[in-house]
Amino acid sequence: SIAPAVLSTLSNGARKGVLLKGGNHLSQLAKVDAIAFDKTGTLTFGRAEVTDLRVREDLEDNEILQAVASIESYSSHPLAEAFVHAAKERSVSISAPDSMESITGNGVRGIYKSKHWIVGKASFVGSGYESFYPDETAQFMEEGKTLVYARDEQGIAAVFAIKDRIREDSKHVISKLKDLGITTIMLTGDSEATGQALAKEAGIDNVITECLPEDKVEQIKRLKDKFGLVGMVGDGINDAPALAIADIGIAMGRGTDVALETADVVLMNDQLSNLPEVVRISKKMTKII
Ligand code: ADP
Ligand code: MG
Repeated sequence: SIAPAVLSTLSNGARKGVLLKGGNHLSQLAKVDAIAFDKTGTLTFGRAEVTDLRVREDLEDNEILQAVASIESYSSHPLAEAFVHAAKERSVSISAPDSMESITGNGVRGIYKSKHWIVGKASFVGSGYESFYPDETAQFMEEGKTLVYARDEQGIAAVFAIKDRIREDSKHVISKLKDLGITTIMLTGDSEATGQALAKEAGIDNVITECLPEDKVEQIKRLKDKFGLVGMVGDGINDAPALAIADIGIAMGRGTDVALETADVVLMNDQLSNLPEVVRISKKMTKII
């Protein structure tokens, strides 16, 4: 049986837009030592825009955009939409690629108009990115922009800078959690420079970058050893294993089905600001019991 205090707190939580899948998660929340946050779609809106494009001398911007957006249009990654949107804005038509393959946490590969393309993070597209507009790409990362490189059969063909906005409530939520004595950490597959810039914007002190989905699980284990009781907030398919291994898995309400199913706690309407509130309530409740 569930204690009346727990029941009232659960319904209180639900009214505040926090869905708890059981009473025991409340007592866990009251004791949470650290909370890790995924970056894209959790701390940020997950609605990114292409802000800059640099291409190799022998190529045209729109030619590249057409190939990349056509291949990305078959990806479900939040970044993919940015390319499709950019193509629309420039009236560049997109069409079905000959083939396309997603490589989680890295990017996509595809054939478009008989040409092979590799699109994704620097380490995924391979050598040559270091000398491709190095000063400008460094600047883009400092601005918190994600870099996506495109490689064709001749080498690096283009680099896109993509900017996602930090949620308005991220900063406030992080500072409230700090007040409650909870350590906050950002986990991201993005580069060191971009991750650091965005963490600074959100007021997060600890950043773990270049994390593949399987690394996120390892990192949660490490955080448990270091801090004790660890929560993880995420939205994506690639966050699900980390949500499962955390002491408390917390999903964004508009996240993917797998994230919602795996999590113990759901933040309805993507309202991050409900998180410190429910922690506060759970602390109060455990005092009552
Ligand atoms: P995050 O942890 O920020 O949510 P992911 O693990 O999903 O990021 O991806 C890590 C990095 O891999 C991205 O920052 C991006 O550079 C690259 N990437 C992943 N998927 C794609 C894609 N569909 N197109 C281009 N780049 C991608
Ligand atoms: Mg995400």
